[in-house]
Amino acid sequence: MLKTTECHAQSIMDKADILARFSCDEGALTRGYLTKEHKAAHQQLAIWMEEAGLTTWEDSVGNQWGRKVASNPDAPTVIIGSHSDTVTNAGKYDGNLGILLGIESLKQLSHHEFPFNIDVVAFADEEGLRFDTTLIGSSAVAGQFNAQWFDIKDSEGITMAQAMQDFGLLPSKAGLDCRDPKETLAYLEVHIEQGPVLEAQDLAVGVVTGIAGAKRFKLDVSGVAGHAGTVPLPLRHDALCAVAEMISTIETYAKENDIVATVGKCDVKKGGAVNVIPGDVSFTIDIRSLEQTKLESACEHLLEQLESIAEYRNVDLGCEQIYQADAVKCAQSLQSLWGNAVEVVTQSSPYFLPSGAGHDALAMQHLTNVGMLFVRCEKGISHNPKEAVMTEDVQVALQCMMEMLLQIESNSPQ
Ligand SMILES: [Zn+2]
Repeated sequence: MLKTTECHAQSIMDKADILARFSCDEGALTRGYLTKEHKAAHQQLAIWMEEAGLTTWEDSVGNQWGRKVASNPDAPTVIIGSHSDTVTNAGKYDGNLGILLGIESLKQLSHHEFPFNIDVVAFADEEGLRFDTTLIGSSAVAGQFNAQWFDIKDSEGITMAQAMQDFGLLPSKAGLDCRDPKETLAYLEVHIEQGPVLEAQDLAVGVVTGIAGAKRFKLDVSGVAGHAGTVPLPLRHDALCAVAEMISTIETYAKENDIVATVGKCDVKKGGAVNVIPGDVSFTIDIRSLEQTKLESACEHLLEQLESIAEYRNVDLGCEQIYQADAVKCAQSLQSLWGNAVEVVTQSSPYFLPSGAGHDALAMQHLTNVGMLFVRCEKGISHNPKEAVMTEDVQVALQCMMEMLLQIESNSPQ
């Protein structure tokens, strides 16, 4: 058991404040991939990594690494990580907390010799703010870098290949330094929950069971536009009324089948008009579940129901899948070690919960077993400057991370 009673979380909170200053928006935090703010933030992280006694380097896609070298440098590696990029007008803790907490845990354990290397990585792109793809940093590490990404342009027409060159990276080397599964023991990530469950449970931390799979669809409903005064209701092909019934069906289905489903966008073509029966409406659905089979069957059943609504309302329905990510289970072995760590630190039973949001672990599971710990955040608010965590909770999470490394050590073959 850890003897640490001193609070080192304040240092993490202070560093999160400093890191938030590396932003391309004045007065707000926005940090995209391969920007000068990315470079500056990673230079600052490298300084903190070195202060913690870590050996540092930047990899082929601009991720920043720090290593606590094992007594036998050829030993396998435990990777601790999270992302340093942000959404537009972001909070200070999404991603960044996990990196800072990793660095601080190794600083506190600097005198402890582990039989494995421990790396902390700041992934340079998870959010996908700049280019129209996500998880570039962790995908490269996990051997999943996709060369088609080079041609994607940002909003100013700069390709990712060009942006890499401008940053000082060689596109021809991107992803070639991916890690070897045989030399990797586990991937650990601490992240803010970005939801309200831990707060409702009055808990500082929770062990993540897995990351929900997600599918997104764009649906186009076409009816017949008409005069709002002259066409009687039974003779209408009102696209918006059909969509209203579809949305309500989606909500009911999600409630009854224990999934989450969201219609986040709904547009009447050309904005609609007060005296026109809506002829064309498009909307999106985002459906998620931790159980992949449940997700597949939910999509199938829901789309069938929407088809039948379209049929009896005499409108056409077009459907296009625009995104999909499979559900990922956190490794059972790592869940139980996180559980032990939480129990040792908090002296109470661990709480287990799924993640509805995507994380770098989605990519890292292609490389190794993944295990995550969530930290309570105020009102579950995230992707928002109001994002907040309590120093006491960060201290609990820090101690859990240190204990987790000791748990892995005592459970690994010597
Ligand atoms: Zn995040």
